[in-house]
This record gives sequence, structure tokens and C-alpha cells, in this order.
Amino acid sequence: MSPDCHIVIIGAGAAGLTAAIFAAEAHPHLHVTILDSARTVGAKILISGGGRCNVTNITVTPKDFHAPARTVERVLKQFNEQQTVQWFASMGVLLKQETTGKMFPVTNKAKSVLSALLLQCEKLGIEIKTTHRVKTITKDGQLFQIETDMGRLTAHRVIMATGGQSLPKSGSDGSGWTLAQELGHTVTSRYPALVPLILNKSFFHEELSGTSHQATVITTVNGKRVDRRTGSLLWTHFGLSGPVVMDASRFWISASEQGCDPSLSISFLPEQTFEEIDQWLALAPQQPHQTSVGSLLSRKLPQRVVKILCSYVANEHAKTSSTPTAVIDIASLPLSQLSRQHRRLLTHTLTGLPLPIVATRGWNFAEVTAGGIPLGEINTKTMASKKTSGLYLVGEMLDCDGRIGGFNFQWAWATGYIAGRKVGAGL
Ligand SMILES: Cc1cc2nc3c(=O)[nH]c(=O)nc-3n(C[C@H](O)[C@H](O)[C@H](O)COP(=O)(O)OP(=O)(O)OC[C@H]3O[C@@H](n4cnc5c(N)ncnc54)[C@H](O)[C@@H]3O)c2cc1C
Repeated sequence: MSPDCHIVIIGAGAAGLTAAIFAAEAHPHLHVTILDSARTVGAKILISGGGRCNVTNITVTPKDFHAPARTVERVLKQFNEQQTVQWFASMGVLLKQETTGKMFPVTNKAKSVLSALLLQCEKLGIEIKTTHRVKTITKDGQLFQIETDMGRLTAHRVIMATGGQSLPKSGSDGSGWTLAQELGHTVTSRYPALVPLILNKSFFHEELSGTSHQATVITTVNGKRVDRRTGSLLWTHFGLSGPVVMDASRFWISASEQGCDPSLSISFLPEQTFEEIDQWLALAPQQPHQTSVGSLLSRKLPQRVVKILCSYVANEHAKTSSTPTAVIDIASLPLSQLSRQHRRLLTHTLTGLPLPIVATRGWNFAEVTAGGIPLGEINTKTMASKKTSGLYLVGEMLDCDGRIGGFNFQWAWATGYIAGRKVGAGL
């Protein structure tokens, strides 16, 4: 029986479009069709990187991902960040590097990225069928039967690129995992990653909403430090966001999901130790130009942060004093009048303020999914399934997630490339 299509790709996101393009280029005689449940494709590409699409990073290594390093390396070697840059340039999208190493289109528009991918699909005669939600996939002899809510299709090969579960309204609602399970795969537990964190309502975050600064975020699980990273932190009306928090969220949520006891703390002066800051505060009164505690701290931190931290310290001090103590205004206190107790508490706060996290903001605000189909169930030379022959799996639906910085797209381009190049073998 001859099939309706040679190759069907399920999902027209970054990984699916890439797989389709490389499959059609490698095998011009084959009919490549993409099915997507969404009405318009590429929603995540368009909103990514704040609408600018952080396509890749100047340096991508296995350390940038949460997955077995050797396996990730095997994938990245086949299509690395330089190849991504060249590939996009060949489609007319030039990328530029920012100081953080992130690479964006020179246009600063994610639309340039999506338009180039869609134009390439059109040039190669790739058919994209939108509003085609796939409900079941079965294998009957050599052929796949794909049931969509718009009818049935048959194909020789299937590439699944259905993404994870982050931002489900984009079409990536996690249904792809059920389809893969029906074809013999297992799926690990999943949770939202690269996600903002919600703080206890009684904390002071609302007063700092909109303020951002550099900070070091330290994650401790069951009393043991598991992560320490420095970057930009943003205070919001619900709690915390910004790249450093989004990256740290991965450690917090994975520990919570495993029933452990994670905690996060921040250092406001990333490069300085407790001793250095304590000494700086202790010796400051000897400087010729006397100033207040608040003015001194404002040289290193935004004024709003200084005010809040000083009143936090004063309140904590009053709460823990054995005798009733008045809450003093530390910010306007001359440095020479800062007591040793207040100074030590201030230094502790500046170097390790504990954060009362109650939850993450969940799937609707997560940039990526942690967990998915184990990489051990995939042949990473081809991205072929080890469970069902003729099936390939790519992108975020796999159990591999990267940190912020263009790494998740690099994973999508690389896995899409590999599957696209290999899917036509034998057809
Ligand atoms: C707000 C936001 C910003 C981000 N910014 C960046 C960034 O700047 N840089 C970066 O590297 N990463 C970023 N990411 C992560 C990145 O977007 C994803 O990792 C990447 O898009 C995953 O690509 P994918 O093709 O595997 O999956 P997706 O892009 O999720 O595509 C999956 C497709 O499959 C379709 N689909 C799902 N189920 C079915 C079904 N049953 N039938 C038919 N179709 C189906 C969906 O409609 C969707 O179109 C961001 C993510 C978010 C949410």
C-alpha cells in the first residue's frame, strides 16, 4: 500500500520545522508533511527572547543542559552553534552576539527567524497542515496510521516534535508524550523549568516590584549547596524573576518534586564574601567623609533595595532581641552609630538573604519543560526511536533542558537537523 506521505512531522515548532527542512533538502524526491494542532505555527519562536528570539549562544557545551553530558555532546557535535549561525545566514538571517554570549537576529525580531524557516519550507515544497491535532499514531506493518481531528493519514516515517508542556496555549500541551507512550516509550516525571518564583505574600518583594540588579542565587537542598549562580535578578509583584532566578528555579522545583527540602538565598553583592562586607562596613566610619549606612550601600545597590534591606534588618533585630527593642531607621543612621549586632545582621542579609518561596508560576510562565522521553530510548546518531522503527523524536519533548541563553533552541535545531538528515534512509 502506498502511503499518503513519505514523512510526517508532528509539530511545527523550532525542532519540527528544522527536521522538515533538512529532510526535504536531503531527499528532494520525498513528500514531507508537517501536522500542527495550532491555527498558526511558530508561536514560541515569535514570543521567545522577549520577541527577539535568542537563537543560540556563542558557546554551547553539554554543561549548559540538564541531561547526561556524553549524550548531549553526541547530539551537539553533529550540529553545533557555528552551524546554526551559518544555517540561518544561508536563509538570510544574520545573527549578532550580545555581551552575555546570547545570539539574536540583527533585526532584533523573532519574526525574521520564523519567516525564514517558513519561506524555506515553502521553497522546498513542504506541506504544513495547521489545525491538525494528532490524536493517535499506530503502526500497521511498515506504515504509520496517524489519526488527526481532520482525518487519517498514512506515512512511512514519523518525526515527533510536539514540544513539552510549557505555555500550553501555544499548542504544546503535553499530548505528544501520550502518543509516544502508545508507541512504546516511557516518560519521566515533568515539571516547569526556567520559571519565575512566587514568594510568601508577607515578604517585601511587592515594594521592590520592577527593580533589577545583579545577585548571586544559592540553592540548598536538605542543607547541602547544589547550585550557585550570578546574574540579573528582577523583583516582581508576585516574587522573583530574571535570568538568574529562572535558571535557579530548575534546582528548586526538581528538589521539591522529589520530596526534598530546597531553599534559596541571595547575595546582593556577588563578588564579596561575608568577611569583606563586614570589614567594609566596620571600617567605613574611619573614612574622612562621614556618611549614613544607606548612602554607603547605595554606592553598590539600587536605593529602593537599600531602604528595604535596612528596614528588614531593623525589624529582624527587634524581633529576635531578648528585651523589647525599638525598630530603628538603619538607612539614615550615621555609620559610626551602627551597632556591631546590626552590622553583623546587615552583612548576613546582604550575603545570604533567605527567600520564602511558596511555588513556581507554573506551566503558563515556564520557558521550558524539565523531564520527558529519556534520551536512552533514542539513538542519538539519528534521533530514531529504539522502541518503534521508523519513528524519530526531537526537541523539547525529550528529557533534556538547557539554561537560559539560546540553549533550548540549539537543542531543537540540532535534534531537528539530525532526524531530518537521517529520516529518509531506505525510502
Ligand atoms: C516565553 C518563552 C520564551 C523562550 N525564549 C527562548 C529563547 O529566547 N531561546 C531559547 O533557546 N529558548 C527559548 N524558549 C524555549 C524554546 O522556545 C523551546 O525550547 C523550543 O521552542 C522547543 O521547540 P520544539 O519544536 O521542541 O517545541 P515547540 O516549539 O513547543 O513546538 C511543538 C509544536 O507541536 C505542536 N503539537 C503539540 N502537540 C501536538 C499534537 N498532538 N498534534 C499536532 N501538533 C501538536 C504544537 O502546536 C507546537 O507547534 C522560550 C520558551 C518560552 C515559552
